[in-house]
Amino acid sequence: MSTVERQAWDVVVVGAGGAGLRAAIEAREQGLRTAVVCKSLFGKAHTVMAEGGIAAAMGNVNAGDGWRVHFRDTLRGGKFLNHWRMAELHAREAPERVWELETWGALFDRTADGRISQRNFGGHEYPRLAHVGDRTGLELIRTLQQRVVALQQEDERETGDHEARLKVFQECTVTRVLKADGAGPADPVAGVFCYRRESGTFFVLDAPAVVLATGGIGKSFKVTSNSWEYTGDGHALALLAGAPLVNMEFVQFHPTGMVWPPSVKGILVTESVRGDGGVLRNSEHRRFMFDYIPDVFRSQYASDEAEADRWYDDPDHNRRPPELLPRDEVARAINAEVKAGRGSPHGGVFLDIASRRSPAEIIRRLPSMHHQFKQLADVDITKEPMEVGPTCHYVMGGVDVDPDTAAATGVPGLFAAGEVAGGMHGSNRLGGNSLSDLLVFGRRAGLHAGRYAAASAGAARPVAGAAQIDAAAAEAVRPFQPPEAGAEPPENPYAVHQDLQQVMNDLVGIIRREPEMSSALAHLAGLRRRAARAVVEGHRQYNPGWHLALDLRNMLLVSECVALAARERTESRGGHTREDHPGMDRAWRRVNLLCSLRGNGEDSGDGAVGAEVPGARDVGTGGSGGEEAGQVRLTRRELPAIRADLLALFDDEELAKYLTDEEVKDR
Ligand code: FAD
Repeated sequence: MSTVERQAWDVVVVGAGGAGLRAAIEAREQGLRTAVVCKSLFGKAHTVMAEGGIAAAMGNVNAGDGWRVHFRDTLRGGKFLNHWRMAELHAREAPERVWELETWGALFDRTADGRISQRNFGGHEYPRLAHVGDRTGLELIRTLQQRVVALQQEDERETGDHEARLKVFQECTVTRVLKADGAGPADPVAGVFCYRRESGTFFVLDAPAVVLATGGIGKSFKVTSNSWEYTGDGHALALLAGAPLVNMEFVQFHPTGMVWPPSVKGILVTESVRGDGGVLRNSEHRRFMFDYIPDVFRSQYASDEAEADRWYDDPDHNRRPPELLPRDEVARAINAEVKAGRGSPHGGVFLDIASRRSPAEIIRRLPSMHHQFKQLADVDITKEPMEVGPTCHYVMGGVDVDPDTAAATGVPGLFAAGEVAGGMHGSNRLGGNSLSDLLVFGRRAGLHAGRYAAASAGAARPVAGAAQIDAAAAEAVRPFQPPEAGAEPPENPYAVHQDLQQVMNDLVGIIRREPEMSSALAHLAGLRRRAARAVVEGHRQYNPGWHLALDLRNMLLVSECVALAARERTESRGGHTREDHPGMDRAWRRVNLLCSLRGNGEDSGDGAVGAEVPGARDVGTGGSGGEEAGQVRLTRRELPAIRADLLALFDDEELAKYLTDEEVKDR
């Protein structure tokens, strides 16, 4: 019988980045008792690292901007694979969310006439990113934390306990979403199982509503801008609870990560450098992006340097510089230049702002970049170009959610928002659209999780039985058990992680081919067997090796989803480039690939079963390429047709590049 400590809450939010905090604030504002759990220190999340800004069509710098233009840019960036309703809600509501931040105390940079300033970014037609120098995420998190504290002070005055209705459990990891006992994939959520990273002690938060807001998956790749927490936990928690993931083949490689020195390889160089005038050059000093403007974007981008340079001062009469193409295009172009032998000394290309802006302007607009290069690479970006190359940055794929409520498909009581949710960005996210996404959908997730929890008050709340909690505890302590005599030797979790990162980087990276992805799936099966033997020494008190051993389950699950979906999609679109299928195929435009855990008679090995996805057609599992049967099942689902008034925002010529002849005819 389990003796694990239990506490009852109305809503549990997993993650304290922008999405998690915005969700928690919304749920608490409805009067619901809300717990926030975060793996890292409170305030340390990816959101805090966001540099460039929040995309919101406020029209402060160019009055031509508006939500419809933002919607159009977002669909173009995602190559029309975005869920149209998410893109619509996002574009409509983002300005309100930014103004709301201001009323909560955020101090944005200003225009000359005192309005929130907005900067240019790749794929955005107008200057649209509200920002605070290149430290926007820090201000966003600071403001949301301040709001959390204000609500806690209210509770202190009212109840004498500042944590009565909003409590943060920092440095705690959730390892399982618990379900009401019944063991079916569609059973409602009953809470979460957690451990304290410092002491290693277990606890359960019982709650009828759980919001996943755990961010990305970058730590499955070797070169990444992501920090240690981003091991795909929320993605895996959803799968294990029975909710499918969508669009997992789409992983964004940001074009500009640091490439030198090796210890900092992958650290992000913000797109604001290009938004503020920086240009990309190869070893021959050529501004090569003009050679890489794809046909679908040719009419919107400058064809020579003179026009591109005029655009910064007169955007209404000139076309944009190609350095500001969507990220997938720029990343592929850099990759091609390096491959063609025109790269920089350390395997990247040059990003030059020094010859384009005065030192004072660079230091004022890009203080963090100036500091970062000086400290980490001994490069003064006011005098010399930076060396940059692609780095794994963001996952477009995530938990399949209802656009309006952020409810996860198939699991009552489970919600997801922010980077862990899928659908919003289609095949490629535009810069700045993540911070706005997490505010818009974080709020919606908190609102609807709150309503769901309130509706379950009074009624018998779902409860996870002791057996489920004992199983979660046993799973968590497994890495302390040495293999039995005669069994295969134990594995070091760090070695397994390193090999996983290498496999994903080499075989499922920026340019993909069928045999390599099949090979990746075979490697992943082997790594899964090794991870099951990963053993750690010592105790549960702060033990990073143990934490990593637990995170491996999640990274392996999401990596399999990425490889399986990427092998299935035989076209190139956004963050998914197939060398063996280089073109974008209009027939694939309406296809979503969904990943769920194998189930319904196919034991995935961990007792969990995947839910049936309404309207989805089975494609198969990771076993179909000769490799060992995997844990993930893939299904195809048709994307809903885009509403007619939204389609009317595009001209026929453009639509014909994305939609099938039949779709264009029927509209
Ligand atoms: P995060 O902010 O990533 O927070 C996730 C939270 O979940 C953390 O608190 C973490 O501790 C917690 N967590 C994870 N797993 C668990 C678990 N198992 N148990 C408990 N807690 C858990 N986007 C933009 O729009 N504009 C930008 O300028 C921009 N710049 C960026 C710069 C960098 C360097 C990076 C890495 C990203 C940038 N992005 C930007 C992307 C954006 O920052 C992220 O996509 C976004 O912040 C994700 O927010 P989130 O709330 O979904 O998750």
